[in-house]
Amino acid sequence: MSILVLGGAGYIGSHMVDRLVQNDQDVVVVDNLVTGHRAAINAAAKFYQGDVRDKDFMNHVFDEEPIEAVVHFAAFSVVPESMAKPLKYFDNNTGGMITLLEVMQAHDVKRIVFSSTAATYGTPKQIPIKETDPQEPINPYGASKLMMEHIMHWADVAYGIKFVALRYFNVAGAKPDGSIGEDHGPETHLVPIILQVAQGKRDELKIFGDDYNTPDGTNVRDYVHVVDLADAHILALKYLAAGNESNAFNLGSSTGFSNKQMLTAAREVTGEPIPATLAARRPGDPDSLVAASDKAREILGWQPHYDNVNDIIKTAWTWTQKHPNGYDDRH
Ligand code: NAD
Ligand code: UDP
Repeated sequence: MSILVLGGAGYIGSHMVDRLVQNDQDVVVVDNLVTGHRAAINAAAKFYQGDVRDKDFMNHVFDEEPIEAVVHFAAFSVVPESMAKPLKYFDNNTGGMITLLEVMQAHDVKRIVFSSTAATYGTPKQIPIKETDPQEPINPYGASKLMMEHIMHWADVAYGIKFVALRYFNVAGAKPDGSIGEDHGPETHLVPIILQVAQGKRDELKIFGDDYNTPDGTNVRDYVHVVDLADAHILALKYLAAGNESNAFNLGSSTGFSNKQMLTAAREVTGEPIPATLAARRPGDPDSLVAASDKAREILGWQPHYDNVNDIIKTAWTWTQKHPNGYDDRH
């Protein structure tokens, strides 16, 4: 039997495929390469290029492959873009989930692990954020993902499709050997942008706002290493295979770092000066997002190996140095 990884050519999905292959698991990848890279997919996985929203294509994949469970990363995930183009997000993310669950139901596949996000919580009333806290997104990206959680809930009630929603906080880092890593085009995430400045590919980091309600005025985020994150998905697959009920878990480190602290850490790791200037706030950014992640540790048995941001940034820096132009496949 195979695990189907949707979005397996993307940043997080490619690390997931790699970890599954290392665990001797048969893997099928579906990706339309809208933001992903063919070269990021471990060669041991079987690849189908196509769109999750294309029902005929998805039925074909499920007809061909012995799929036991699905891990669903395929989505758009850029907060400011979602503010400008909300319908693009509801179409791809939320719409894609409806097609996927219809195809899973038709093929009697009853387990799904889903990439949810801290953005579903909106502006939290308390830090650290617990899974039971209110989910009130303040941007369309977070809203599109919350709707996907709700759709999975009702598909569970009606059809018994069990899900685990993993609400990631800020994912960073790369496989430590630097063979796969983060390559979004255009890049919007803080860590790779800081490292592009360190590389000399950008002149400076623009820090988006320093008048937030945080100790140094810049946003506070909770960074989790991409390989630790992938391992949590493997535990979630085991949790569902053991017959457990649907559930949701935060995945973070429980420690917050401000944007200024991340800059300092990156200067330490790279030894580069990394010039930075202050810029206007970016729409849709909550002050602080820090996870309470003891639930994943207690119920899934998750034990992240990376517990400081310098080590996380170091793995991203290794990837950046080995692949100065990313996957180098822009067309
Ligand atoms: P990514 O853009 O690198 O990967 C997404 C992959 O999905 C890409 O390979 C893309 O080509 C594919 N894809 C998108 N729409 C598709 C469609 N309709 N059909 C087929 N393939 C499609 O993003 P990522 O950073 O790896 O994020 C993966 C998931 O994790 C996303 O769902 C995102 O919302 C979630 N997430 C990411 C972060 C983060 O910090 N990167 C935080 C929280 C949640
Ligand atoms: N950020 C920044 N400059 C940049 C990119 C990001 O100041 O060039 C800030 C952003 O406003 C947020 C934090 O870095 O406070 C993390 O942003 P990212 O896009 O990496 O992740 P998000 O928290 O939006 O998922």
